[in-house]
Amino acid sequence: MLDVDFFRRWLRAAAAAVEREAGRLTELDSAIGDADHGSNLQRGFRAVTAALESEPPETPGATLILAGRQLISTVGGASGPLYGTLLRRTGKALGDSAEVTAEQLAEALGAGVAAVAQLGGAKAGDKTMIDALEPAVAALGTSFAAAATAADEGAVATVPLLARKGRASYLGERSIGHQDPGATSSALLIAALAATAGE
Ligand code: ADP
Ligand code: MG
Ligand code: MG
Repeated sequence: MLDVDFFRRWLRAAAAAVEREAGRLTELDSAIGDADHGSNLQRGFRAVTAALESEPPETPGATLILAGRQLISTVGGASGPLYGTLLRRTGKALGDSAEVTAEQLAEALGAGVAAVAQLGGAKAGDKTMIDALEPAVAALGTSFAAAATAADEGAVATVPLLARKGRASYLGERSIGHQDPGATSSALLIAALAATAGE
């Protein structure tokens, strides 16, 4: 069973990964965007970490809802509302249980990813975070490690795609040949989940 401490550790691991990889995320965003994805997520996840310290939630669901709210209110870019929606919707789907199973988390994350797709209007193959998140959710039924691998492969598979959503879509054909920053950060989020689960 996954308790509130597991979810706190997951978000802290995600925040640490964002700190570590911020330069790379911003570099990817400088090729097909406006060079702020790393700094956007750094600001957002620093706020998440601070909120978890100052008002520690008591359930898995409340933890993700708090984190989602912080991302929405502190990240200016497109990724803030999208990741905020992912975590809030996932948290809502978990309800107010003190502990959840891996299966319940997989189902809740599926609802979260569906909400992101609805908000942003992106589908698989549009060269967005959806290209890492959807395969990750599909593989969660197998294991957290399989989800991390699927997310990573999904992110790498965005390289040859033409961007159809977000700033990168303004570049048209020139978006081809670059890895999507949001798909890359999504893979970090899922890798942090697998690491927290000890996989
Ligand atoms: P901004 O583009 O506003 O500067 P960020 O740089 O923080 O925001 O985030 C860019 C990432 O957000 C993209 O790499 C992509 O993965 C994701 N993204 C942008 N628009 C959409 C959308 N409509 N649906 C899903 N993901 C999107
Ligand atoms: Mg950007
Ligand atoms: Mg921006």
